[in-house]
Amino acid sequence: MAIWNLGSINADMVYTMPHLPAAGETLAALRLDRFLGGKGANMSVAATRAGSEVHHIGAVGPDGVWAIERLKAYGAGTDHVSQVETPTGHAIIAVEPEGENQIILFPGANRVLNSEQLEQALAQANACDILVMQNETNLQAEAAQLGRRMGLRVCYAAAPFDADAVQAVLPYLDFLILNEVEAQQLQLATGKTPGELGVKDVIITLGSKGARHIDGETGAVLDVPALPVTAVDTTGAGDTFTGYVLSGLDQGLAMAEAMAQASRAAALMVTRHGTADVIPELAEVQAARF
Ligand code: ADP
Repeated sequence: MAIWNLGSINADMVYTMPHLPAAGETLAALRLDRFLGGKGANMSVAATRAGSEVHHIGAVGPDGVWAIERLKAYGAGTDHVSQVETPTGHAIIAVEPEGENQIILFPGANRVLNSEQLEQALAQANACDILVMQNETNLQAEAAQLGRRMGLRVCYAAAPFDADAVQAVLPYLDFLILNEVEAQQLQLATGKTPGELGVKDVIITLGSKGARHIDGETGAVLDVPALPVTAVDTTGAGDTFTGYVLSGLDQGLAMAEAMAQASRAAALMVTRHGTADVIPELAEVQAARF
């Protein structure tokens, strides 16, 4: 089976600064590092590292060939990543020594995907494959609808949170994954608890408190604990968790097992600085002692 990921691809440009620049101030950076990022790319890398066949559906600009190459080097399928005129999505991240940061996000190519590209990609999918999306591209509702019609297992990670975006895909979802804040925001917007949304599987990630699965059909709740680690950087923990859960399900694990494995992968992830480039491999996740 395979995972189809309609997802963002970003260049994370990290500028190490003596301090965060004030309005009107010009300040030289001490160093620049460029990383592969974007929730979509992170999830593709996580699911690939967890052992799945992953096909990324996305776009980069003329300046993004390196990002396609990086995704490919990590093992993700990039046949459905197009090159467009709009610049590659990127985050300009200023970081000061104390770790405080400031981020400018430019969605760029991630928001100009076209329907034809999506249809061509999903025409290659098999019923029972997984389709996953996050809220950093366009075409989410169209993809969800098409995925449902084709019998794919349609998953949505509701981040960055936007109530309208979630509500547009909600009728077509088999699986919804949210963090604690997003779950509260969705409840406020819909007036329904996550278990009442009509989605079969809902996972709420709870940071250092673990993760909760709610069966939308029976209302049954399953709690999976987080593992005891010293967190140094929680960036990408949610994306790693999602990629690992989906890969576990794709490989036939039961929900509880897939979540336990995802929890181990995310725990390792929070002990590391960085995002896509440092997502752990399955063998490492299985061998880790907590
Ligand atoms: P997001 O990054 O999307 O906000 P969370 O913060 O809920 O997501 O984290 C996702 C998952 O990562 C959690 O469900 C948990 O398994 C793991 N995790 C996050 N923070 C920690 C932590 N401090 N210690 C151990 N595991 C963590």
